[in-house]
Amino acid sequence: MELVCLDLEGVLVPEIWIEVAKRTGIDALARTTRDEPDYDVLMRARLELLARHRLKLADIQRVIESMAPLEGAAEFLARLRERYQVVILSDTFYEFAGPLMRRLGWPTLLCHRLDTDAEGYVSVYRLRMDDQKRAAVRAFQGLNYRVIAAGDSYNDVGMLGAADAGIFFRPPQAIAQQFPQFAVTRSYAELRVSIDGIAARLG
Ligand SMILES: [Mg+2]
Repeated sequence: MELVCLDLEGVLVPEIWIEVAKRTGIDALARTTRDEPDYDVLMRARLELLARHRLKLADIQRVIESMAPLEGAAEFLARLRERYQVVILSDTFYEFAGPLMRRLGWPTLLCHRLDTDAEGYVSVYRLRMDDQKRAAVRAFQGLNYRVIAAGDSYNDVGMLGAADAGIFFRPPQAIAQQFPQFAVTRSYAELRVSIDGIAARLG
């Protein structure tokens, strides 16, 4: 049996931090895993910026409330779930993801958590575990699923490599060139054809 693991940001929804950067005018918040492969370095910088600009969790949640999934994402996901078990593996946080998950029909999401202090400022981010995307793929394979994974960025490479087949979706060119072993897809139609083709081959 096949199970499909999808990254969230850049695959089904826009990059949340880029949107927050636009709305708040804090350009430095626009850095993502596409720019900084070390997630800890990236998150520490983000939390420092939020504190310096006095932005609370509720301020960011307000921005996310106004965001929508990428065009065609909800339909793509709904159709995909008719045929496959689908799990979203994301390095975002449950405190951020809620409104977007609602618009995607509440798919299963494995991600991380944020802690806030008494005033509502984000005090610390808590990774559920290191390298969770890769670990999830390995665990599903241990349950006798064959995993097809799709993502767009550095933080997906472990997941794509561990999966029985890994696919890039709209990756930056530099990342696609660095990891030529993964097929590149640019539309949901292409991604679906790729997933179905792999499933047929694995089956
Ligand atoms: Mg992504």
